[in-house]
Amino acid sequence: MDYKRLADLLFPNELKSPREYEEIYPKRNLPEGATVTRIGPSPTGFIHLGNLYNALIGERLSAQSGGVFFLRIEDTDSKRYVEGAVDVILSSMKFFGIEFDEGATVDGDNGSYGPYRQSLRKEIYHTFARELVLSGKAYPCFCGEDELEAMRNEQMAGKLNFGYYGKWAKCRDLSYEEIEAKIKNGEPYVLRFRSEGDENNRVEVFDGIRGTLSLQENYQDFVLLKSDGIPTYHFAHVVDDHLMRTTHVVRGEEWLSTLPIHVQLFDTLGWERPIYCHTAVLMKMDGETKRKLSKRKDPELALEYYRKEGYLPSCVTEYLMTVLNSNFEEWRAENPTAPIDDFKFTLEKMSNSGALFDLAKFDDVSREVLLRTPAEEIYEKLAEWAREYDPEFFKIFTADRDFSIKAISVGRSGDRPRKDLVNMSQARDFLSFYYRGTFKIEDEFPQNTDADMRREIISRYLDTLDFGDDKTAWFAKVRVIADDLGFALQPKKYKKNPELYNGSISDVSNVIRVALVGRTNSPDLWEISQVLGEDETRARLAKAAEL
Ligand code: GLU
Repeated sequence: MDYKRLADLLFPNELKSPREYEEIYPKRNLPEGATVTRIGPSPTGFIHLGNLYNALIGERLSAQSGGVFFLRIEDTDSKRYVEGAVDVILSSMKFFGIEFDEGATVDGDNGSYGPYRQSLRKEIYHTFARELVLSGKAYPCFCGEDELEAMRNEQMAGKLNFGYYGKWAKCRDLSYEEIEAKIKNGEPYVLRFRSEGDENNRVEVFDGIRGTLSLQENYQDFVLLKSDGIPTYHFAHVVDDHLMRTTHVVRGEEWLSTLPIHVQLFDTLGWERPIYCHTAVLMKMDGETKRKLSKRKDPELALEYYRKEGYLPSCVTEYLMTVLNSNFEEWRAENPTAPIDDFKFTLEKMSNSGALFDLAKFDDVSREVLLRTPAEEIYEKLAEWAREYDPEFFKIFTADRDFSIKAISVGRSGDRPRKDLVNMSQARDFLSFYYRGTFKIEDEFPQNTDADMRREIISRYLDTLDFGDDKTAWFAKVRVIADDLGFALQPKKYKKNPELYNGSISDVSNVIRVALVGRTNSPDLWEISQVLGEDETRARLAKAAEL
């Protein structure tokens, strides 16, 4: 076969040579050991936790080594393309503090290794496809769906391996004339790789997370270019990551099964393989069993979920870091206030069995992060969140900035600070009692107190209430009321001899608590009263006493 003739037949248009591309995209001039990483999301409009998880790894590896982190849009599948999806990818990543050094942006490209959208790289792929044809490593295949299905049925009947290989690869040995005739005839074709692999051979691949893997060599004549001339993921990934000089390909473990194809291509093209880093799939506990996070069942898979619930991005990255690196929590315990970027992330500390995403644990981490976040910052974030998701509350919450910051600050200092806040939608609910517009009695008054007793407690409390008291003096007065009205000053005593008392002191404070906060669980009443101010405190109590 005259491969030059075949290449000219398949690629009649002028194309640059591989050498020219090597010159346009030279080896990057970076310090020794610098890592070049990327994410390659498809613009389907759905951006999920896995994307962020992989982005975080790539971003950390490159930032820590003085390398480059870029965004490549993998839009070769036009059926899945959703208008505005690039914007969604960029804004979601930005929201979580992930910034790219180069890559696709909303209005064009930033960087000299582009285009960063695969749909604009067709000619580049064709140059290298042509190169493979020239060396006899690629050939056109005209087999249609029906033929492939018939082949599959035959393979099934013979209990043989499925696929396009060996003697099954019918189009491998078409003559130039046959090919030319079919093309002239307008028959559609794909371009296949001519694999010299053997199903009995193993190939070793080093994975940055999993170590050295031994995989079955690829022996299938896989597709390089589809019938519309658009490359498959396999081919596009190899060409792009070579020319963009990616050193570490961080991607999900769903690509492990086709890894032999990718290394075969790298090797055949004579290119240095990148270090592959296949991340474990994100799992969750569903009852007793672990399963993959699912788009259909688990809203927390979508990054949108975190925005809507108002989780601070810092909470999400902090939690992802605990999942990513087994030593992160220990580091955090030793460095409670250090910025997260001070942590040295390493691939070695990553687990390669399913990464467990635990919402309850995530909430605990979020509570910790919010406790470290200054009240002023929480105020800004909650205002920002409410402006978008609850405009009514936004008005109420931002009417008096100082008041709201004081409300947020309650209970957050001292030896045993409270961790009341988890995310902004929960913070809205939690803080709602501070505002007249959202205050309501949500919980029941203690069962041990009837209406008369409640009135009695509240009226005595109002009589003795003095806003000049400090916390100790204030509480001493509550004790006097409890004692006078027959409530045990220690819950233990009441438990032991319930018949001797009307209840315990916690019933008394809970009467005041429900009157003032509307709930049986709240931060310290004295502190809350200081924020509410004397008038509002008295008004709420008086109102409750009318009950
Ligand atoms: N477009 C691929 C995906 O969305 C990217 C895989 C890769 O990073 O190479 O899964």
